[in-house]
This record gives sequence, structure tokens and C-alpha cells, in this order.
Amino acid sequence: TASESNLIRVTLFPGDGIGPEIAESVKQVFKAADVPVEWEEHYVGKEVDPRTQSFLTWESLESVRRNKVGLKGPMATPIGKGHRSLNLTLRKELNLYANVRPCYSLPGYKTKHDDVDLITIRENTEGEYSGLEHQVVRGVVESLKIITRHASLRVAEYAFHYANAHGRERVSAIHKANIMQKTDGLFLKCCREVAEKYPEIKYEEVVIDNCCMMLVKNPSLFDVLVMPNLYGDIISDLCAGLIGGLGLTPSCNIGEGGIALAEAVHGSAPDIAGQNKANPTALLLSGVSMLRHLDLHDKADKIQNAVLNTIAEGKYRTGDLGGKSTTTDFTKAICDHL
Ligand code: ATP
Ligand code: MG
Repeated sequence: TASESNLIRVTLFPGDGIGPEIAESVKQVFKAADVPVEWEEHYVGKEVDPRTQSFLTWESLESVRRNKVGLKGPMATPIGKGHRSLNLTLRKELNLYANVRPCYSLPGYKTKHDDVDLITIRENTEGEYSGLEHQVVRGVVESLKIITRHASLRVAEYAFHYANAHGRERVSAIHKANIMQKTDGLFLKCCREVAEKYPEIKYEEVVIDNCCMMLVKNPSLFDVLVMPNLYGDIISDLCAGLIGGLGLTPSCNIGEGGIALAEAVHGSAPDIAGQNKANPTALLLSGVSMLRHLDLHDKADKIQNAVLNTIAEGKYRTGDLGGKSTTTDFTKAICDHL
């Protein structure tokens, strides 16, 4: 086993609903793969921490800032006034400016396309999510979509850096600049500026509506996609649908100062929480993203292969993939592959 002193500390938020069950699965699989990490577990608090104005404590945020790397299960924000949503708190406080979602066809799990292999990179801090909405006069409301040079350059830089570091050939900027001339226009201008610094990577601009059509028809046309917030929200779910749904898709949030907080894309799935039915694949593959961020590629490959082979074999699959296995049986099958 990995020696105690060489362990890398990472923050773990098991989260709510099915979160603790799938987080347990990740811990078991990581242990079976002898991954040299030590989990620093943090739970969502029962009351609002005035320092964060949310149910997340200051100590939890500090833990991510200190460790720089974390894994997060789904968090359901309790309803009520006077606090910020958990995801928004994390995004704002940790400056998580890019959401990266790898999306690839899982061998052995048949979907309409079997050649999906793309990365969506979503700007995560502004755009339509500025939260600036008001009523102008009765019957007329206004919502501000904010695009800044700073945030656009930052996410474009990340996209090209990612493409370069992962041997990807092309970056497509997704936009609607023909209509949103100023906002999406500025976003594209920033992407173009960054593209010039990476002559070996092909750069193209695709209008969002056309992008949807192309993705559904022939997803292999794309490689790395970078886009403003709302388009990213929609396109990344579309891509998740291409490979089999939310139980399968990982993501990783990149923050200022080298922070990486990996998370499953799905919510807390209250309908199946506590029933040992959840598919831990999305969180496991998010864990794999986290390991790649830590440059632990051997361990990442090992776990990724074990998960994919277990699904491909088809003997142990959870209900969402049409199987009958429990979370624990599926997890055990993955550990056996290791
Ligand atoms: P939240 O409010 O936290 O987003 P939700 O009610 O929207 O919760 P989701 O978690 O988004 O629920 O899930 C939508 C559907 O997909 C639910 O039927 C849920 O059971 C299913 N689902 C989501 N994640 C998983 C998973 N990991 N394994 C199996 N089923 C899942
Ligand atoms: Mg949901």
C-alpha cells in the first residue's frame, strides 16, 4: 500500500441524496486501486454559516483552497430564504471559472452513436448566470447577460491549454454572435486572440443551433468545444445524452490558482436515495478526472478501464443502465477487475 507520508490530501464532499452511497463506492474503488490519496471529508452543514452565507462552512471552502483538489457529490440546496445555493457558493468562492466535461462512448453500452469523443468546456462565472434580472415596467422584464474580456480570455486560454495538453486537434467556439453581436462577439474575439497563440491547434466557430444539429447527427465532427455559460449548460447535457445519460458523465471544475473540483453531473436523485440503486459511474469517472489533474495517469487509466470493462461485460449494471445490480455489487465487480 501507498506509504502514509506520500498520501495526497484531497477534499471529499459526499453530498446529499445518493451522494454518500456513490462516494462510498469511490472510496472503495480508490482503495482497491491503491491510489495514494487521503480523503478529507466535509459535509454540508445543518445551518447557515454567516461567513459563507450558505450551508457550506468556511472550513469546507478552506479545505479545498488548501488541498487545491477535491471531489464533490451532488448537493441539494435546502429551500428557504437568506442563503446562497451550495453550488453557487462553491463556484463564486473558489472562482471555479471553467466546467470541463469529457464525453466519450462507453464500449459495450450501446447508444445511437458509438464514436463520441469530445470535451465541452463551459464558462462558469458570468453570461446569462449573472443573476441580474429586474422588472423595467409592468409586463416588461430585463435579464443582463454579462460577457467580459477577462472571463472570456480565461476560459479560452483553458480550452486551448487543455487541447494542447491532451493531444486534441481542434477547438470549436460555440456562439450566437449573429444575434448577440456584442456579447458573443466579444467572446469570439477573445477565443480568436488565444487561438493565434496555438497555431498547431485548429480553431473554428460554430453557431449554437447548427452545433446542436451536428452533435445529434454526427458527434465525431467535434473535438474540444468552448462556450459561454448557458450554451455550455445545454450542450453539455446534450452530450451526456449522447453517451447514455447523467449516471455516466463526469465533470471537473477548474478554479483560479490551480484548484480542481471534480463532480458528477447529476443531482441528488432523491427518488432512489438510500436504496443502494445509484450508479456510481459518474462520480467514479469524475474521480478519474481528478487523478488526471494530479498527474496520476496510471491510476486513472486503471480505474477507468475497470469501470468501463465492468459496464461492457454487462453482468453487473445498475438500474439506470437496464441492469439489476445494487450500487455495492457493481462496486465490488469494479474492485474485482482491479
Ligand atoms: P436535484 O434536485 O438534486 O438535481 P433531481 O430530482 O433533479 O435532483 P437528478 O439527480 O437530477 O434528480 O436525477 C434525475 C433522474 O435521474 C432521477 O430519476 C434519478 O433517479 C436519475 N439519476 C440521477 N443520477 C443517477 C445515478 N447516479 N444513478 C442512477 N440514477 C440516477
Ligand atoms: Mg436535477
